[in-house]
Amino acid sequence: AVPLVAAISTSISARNGLLIRNRTAFEASRKITTIVFDKTGTLTKGTHEVTRIVSLSSKYDERELLKYATAAESPSEHHISKGLMRKAKEEKIDIPPVTDFKYNAGIGVSGTVNGKKVQVGGFLLLEQLKKSVDEDKDEGVETKVFAIIDDELIGFITFADEIRESSYGAIKTLHENNIKVSLLTGDNEIVAKDVAEKLGLDDYMAEVLPDQKLDQIKKLQAKGEFVAMVGDGVNDAPALAQADVGIAIGSGTDVAAETADIVLMDSDPKDIVNLILFGKATYRKMV
Ligand code: ADP
Ligand code: MG
Repeated sequence: AVPLVAAISTSISARNGLLIRNRTAFEASRKITTIVFDKTGTLTKGTHEVTRIVSLSSKYDERELLKYATAAESPSEHHISKGLMRKAKEEKIDIPPVTDFKYNAGIGVSGTVNGKKVQVGGFLLLEQLKKSVDEDKDEGVETKVFAIIDDELIGFITFADEIRESSYGAIKTLHENNIKVSLLTGDNEIVAKDVAEKLGLDDYMAEVLPDQKLDQIKKLQAKGEFVAMVGDGVNDAPALAQADVGIAIGSGTDVAAETADIVLMDSDPKDIVNLILFGKATYRKMV
């Protein structure tokens, strides 16, 4: 009887927008007590439209800043990179090639452009490089990346992202089912708090590196929680592997999808609700 149930549940899962890669994890999904969401690209759309370009250097104006940052980001798969590429195209800026490209997950990128060492990343990168920005130039609820050229901080670029419409309903239904919902993001505190408040999340943590995402999952498990993690990025992979149920967003990176137990085909958080309710129903059928 099990193979038949398995076959039926596979076809139902496809209709529910789920690709089940690990049946055991799927069957365990009814036991979930806490869901941890990644923010960027998961609860939000990851649209990352450039909103401001602020130069802090007399050597590089806004156009030059955009040019160097985009060049250094060009090999990256991140929403930040895609947002920069669109803006540079719109501004008809020719992007010079980059060599020695490196991606430091949760921190930023680096590379050589026109013989200069270019680094682009968030607040954690600034901290690493022991640099800081004037408070009054540094406001707003936005994702922000800084550009450093040959060790000089030359400016920053901000991005607007939107919460997915379906995230609201998904979180409401999870709460109705007594599941706690929290957020782990590599983005800054201001953006994390804003998203957590708008969605009514139980908890959030900002500026979290990939290994710290993993540690947070372990901590929840040590407290007796049965944890699902939902993410889309390279930086989520360790946490997805550690979670009792790892769920990847379909539009995310290959690394996330390959690590996860379940992939959401339409990248829609509401399918997670389907997963849990459907997991409960399937289990009832099997016993
Ligand atoms: P989340 O955990 O919400 O998905 P990400 O890990 O995608 O967030 O990004 C976390 C932070 O790491 C970003 O806000 C940014 O500061 C930095 N970062 C990640 N990737 C890049 C990149 N390609 N360029 C610049 N900064 C990046
Ligand atoms: Mg993400």
